[in-house]
Amino acid sequence: MRTKLVAGNWKMHGSLATNAGLLQAVRDGAKGRAEVAVCVPYPYLAQAQAALAGSSVAWGAQDVSEHAQGAWTGEVSGAMLADFACRYVLVGHSERRSFFGDTDAVVAAKFAAALKAGLMPVLCVGESLAEREAGITGEVVTRQIDAVLETNGIDAFARAVVAYEPVWAIGTGRTASPEQAQEVHAQIRARFARDSKDVAAGLRILYGGSVKANNAVELFGQADIDGGLIGGASLVAADFLAICAAA
Ligand code: PEP
Repeated sequence: MRTKLVAGNWKMHGSLATNAGLLQAVRDGAKGRAEVAVCVPYPYLAQAQAALAGSSVAWGAQDVSEHAQGAWTGEVSGAMLADFACRYVLVGHSERRSFFGDTDAVVAAKFAAALKAGLMPVLCVGESLAEREAGITGEVVTRQIDAVLETNGIDAFARAVVAYEPVWAIGTGRTASPEQAQEVHAQIRARFARDSKDVAAGLRILYGGSVKANNAVELFGQADIDGGLIGGASLVAADFLAICAAA
């Protein structure tokens, strides 16, 4: 039995002042069966840690350097995230892949760096609209996963989470239907099962892409959907908590 996970991705939003209320509300309101986490911008990790320590809500970051230490101006290492007791870190979010040049190889290296620091990477995969329309969704997602499997091995996924996020559904208000999402989630789980049935059975595969309170129940009710990665709706406490309650 997999414990569902609902993780908020705040992206580049927030301020010390606005975060305070949001963190408090999430801490107070996250009382369901699902595990809840928030992935906040780096400068707010200390604030998230202070606000959420001792609660059931975990926190994490949205990216991590592939490098451990050194002259890498602007980078943040896994060890630094561990210093702030992060549990999770996103790797390979489509915005990093498309705007910041995170190739499959870089994503695989970031995934390894996260694990090495004792963090749980949330590997984001997903196809663009053009790729879906070309009928190559399965191919794209498998390529993204294989790049990480090749360098990290199947056992690494016993300590990781996968998020399927069709790029055309992120921040667009356009959600994959529960059937569309389930189809890809099942393909992803089958890919892992080729290497290890046990790892595949225990792996949490989140759906992300315009999840809202009104579509969460149906999405999370699918056999291979183990929760969600939530962007826009994670910035409004009532919306995020309603999604958490649906898991
Ligand atoms: C995301 O950025 O991971 C995401 C799913 O965003 P949204 O929920 O806003 O589509």
